Formats: sequence, structure tokens, C-alpha cells
Amino acid sequence: MLITKPDYFDDFQCIAGDCPDSCCKEWDVQVDDVSAKLYRSLPGDLGNRLREVLVEEDGETVMTIIDGRCPMWRNDGLCRIQAELGESALCKTCREFPRLTHDYGDFLELQLELSCPEAAKFILTQTRALMINTETEGGEEPEYDEEAMSVLKRTRKRVLEMLFDPSRSVPETLAAALLYGYQAQSELDGDETQDFDADVALNSVQQFAKVPDPLEMTDFFLSLEVLTPEWKALLQSPSPAPWSDDHRALAAYLVQRYWLQAVSDYDLYCRVKFIFIACLLVKHLGGDIFRTAQLFSKEIENSIDNVEALLDAAYAHPAFTDDKLLGMLLNQK
Ligand code: SF4
Repeated sequence: MLITKPDYFDDFQCIAGDCPDSCCKEWDVQVDDVSAKLYRSLPGDLGNRLREVLVEEDGETVMTIIDGRCPMWRNDGLCRIQAELGESALCKTCREFPRLTHDYGDFLELQLELSCPEAAKFILTQTRALMINTETEGGEEPEYDEEAMSVLKRTRKRVLEMLFDPSRSVPETLAAALLYGYQAQSELDGDETQDFDADVALNSVQQFAKVPDPLEMTDFFLSLEVLTPEWKALLQSPSPAPWSDDHRALAAYLVQRYWLQAVSDYDLYCRVKFIFIACLLVKHLGGDIFRTAQLFSKEIENSIDNVEALLDAAYAHPAFTDDKLLGMLLNQK
């Protein structure tokens, strides 16, 4: 089985008590069955506390958040379970975070997740992450449509190359990548592979791009579930930042994460829009891009409801029509 990961993947280390945020705040943690059984069987104070705070929700065991934080989070920023029982006693979610595994059966892709501030430093400072491939035993027969996967892998490779082409400005690069994503959807639908000329594509949409109204976009995000007051404040009072290479790196992270997922439903179009809406939003909100992008991930990527709402909005919401997205990309400095 082929395992692919960015070259910085194994360099990540949790900074625990020094973390400016924490993955132990704001989120309910889903606890796997093996860990839940262990936790409920523990004697003493720790076992009693765990029996109080583990609840069943929709068939899953969840560690409830109390006063906005995990009840196992100590005042020194460390985890009580880890401190008393060692790292191996952590549940799968906590042991793996922020490491993501995309399992396609016969190949695996590993990635760090942007919602961790320490991981965000690796992700957003990449001019072009080198991917490392390793062959191992194991794996399963793929269940995906091989032809569709081949189109998605080929087009993802192309869009990643486009994102790091320094000959075009960042907004033109992102607009060209968005347009290429639309072409990739038609190839996924079975249309013949066509040449893609970014200059021709950009010229052809200049007239079509509408003058943006970013308020529509922030209003949409304010209508979603909001976890933190900081995110709400950013959405209410944005201070747009200039485009920078960090936005290329953000787009590349999102492309790497979501592009191949279209093999599940053949819907690349809404994922492509999701990716570039995210870049536009992070740029529009401004502030420290590391913090703003990390908050985007925490608030949107880590909420299934919010991800689904944004994927639906990519089709239906008036803020995200193609002409407005292109307008926001091509008319903002
Ligand atoms: S968010 Fe990242 S750095 Fe912070 S505590 Fe969690 S894993 Fe560690």
C-alpha cells in the first residue's frame, strides 16, 4: 500500500502547555469504544470523573465540554488522562490529532490539520510541500471508481502546480485554479481532457466577474454555528489583509485535503468552491493569517454541520455565485 505524507509530517510535535489555543477547548471529543471501556472501568477519582463526563450521543461516546473546555484539561494546560496514565491511554481522537488519515483502501494520504496552531505553522509556511511516498504491506481492494480517481489525481497534481507558479499574482492564481477546478469537474463527468490555458481562461471571465460585496459572505458565516467569540468578532469587524504566498499555501492544503474526496460522489464543483471561498474569507477577515486560518479550520472544517452548510451554499447561496467569487478574487488587492 502506498502511504503519502508531507515531508514535515513527522516533525510535528504538540507543544501542550505552550499552545496558544488548545484542542481541549470548545470541542466535544468523540471517544472510541476501546478507550471508553477502559475509562469507565478505572478505579478512583479519575474513573469516577470519567464516568460522570462520558455521555452517549447518536450511538457514539463523547467527552462533554464543561465551561468551554475538556473536563480532563488541567490548569497547567496538560491532559489529566495523559498525566496519570500515559500517552497510550489517550483515546484515538486525542492521540492522533492533528494528524489526518485519508484512507482510500489501497493508498493512504496523511496530513496535518490546520486547526492546530503548531500544525498551521508547518502548513502555511510551505512554498511547496514535498510529498514523501512509502510502500508498505497491507491495504484493501479499492472500492472507488478507478477512472474517476485517476482524473482527480491528475487534476489535483495540475492545480497544485498552478498554485505555486510564481509568474502570476496570488489572486489571479487562485482565480485560474478555480476555473481549472470547473474544467476538472467536466472531465470527471466524462468530457474529454482539454488543454487549460490560464491566461485565456482569466481573460474570458474578466467581463463576467462582479464587483464583490464581502458583507454577504461574512453574513453567511455568521449564520452558521459559531464556537468562539474571537471568530464572531472577526466576522463582525473584518480588516482585510493583502494577498500573500500564505494564501497559496492555504489553498494547497485545502486542495490536498478535499480534492480526492469527490471520488465519493463525483461532486468536485462544490469542493472547489469551498476551497476558494475559504481562501477569500481568510484574506477578507485579515489579522494574523496563522490565527485566522486556524480559526477557520476550527470553526468550519471541524464541524460536520458547517462543512455541509458551506458545501450546499457553494451551489445555492447568492454570496457564492461564480461571478461574485471571481469578482472577489480579481477585484481585491
Ligand atoms: S492544538 Fe495542537 S499544539 Fe495545541 S494542544 Fe492541541 S495538538 Fe497540541
